[in-house]
Amino acid sequence: MPICFDLDGTLGHFSSGFVLLREALGLVWGETPTVEELRLCRGSTDWEIVDELHHMRFGRGLDETGYSAYETACVDRFREVFTPGAQAAVAYRGVLEGMHRLAATRQVWIVSGNAPGLLAFKTEVLGVDPAIPRLGSLPRHDRADLLRRALREGAGPHLYVGDRPHDLDAAQAAGLPFVGIGEAVPGEHRSLPPDIEADHLVAAVEAALESTP
Ligand SMILES: [Mg+2]
Repeated sequence: MPICFDLDGTLGHFSSGFVLLREALGLVWGETPTVEELRLCRGSTDWEIVDELHHMRFGRGLDETGYSAYETACVDRFREVFTPGAQAAVAYRGVLEGMHRLAATRQVWIVSGNAPGLLAFKTEVLGVDPAIPRLGSLPRHDRADLLRRALREGAGPHLYVGDRPHDLDAAQAAGLPFVGIGEAVPGEHRSLPPDIEADHLVAAVEAALESTP
């Protein structure tokens, strides 16, 4: 397997992403979930979050058809907003370049909480090499389940690069070493700034792998 990278906040960011998620659900459900409802959600993947909001709105869980309708509407909203001449995504150039360098000699995956269609759109916008596999949010999977699924695809070494405490939690649940981007994840792991240069990103990931028993 893979050295796995989260996307949002790790490879770059798409501001207003949660606004667009709410708007997409408003289009599908006829009523937009509130910011307060979104804050009550505990999950970190699109399936988990939309499922929780569906429970709040309809008193029952999401199904695959409902998830697919959300995914289509959300990708449409992102395509409208992040279009040339309109809002721009922010790419963390050094992290992206370092990830591509690692992919030249190691298995690299992107494992993200975005629904698969949205992940495909975002990776395209950020210029991720199409040869790097993507694994987005699947029904009834939390983030640790997604990492475990990536682990099954090949031999080690294994590692997760992420930017949020839920990324560290998922890495620990799946038994992976962790490298943080930004300062939002306290702990003993290596933490790198989003504007790190590619060489330093590669060196930090290699050092984390070497120090893993
Ligand atoms: Mg993230």
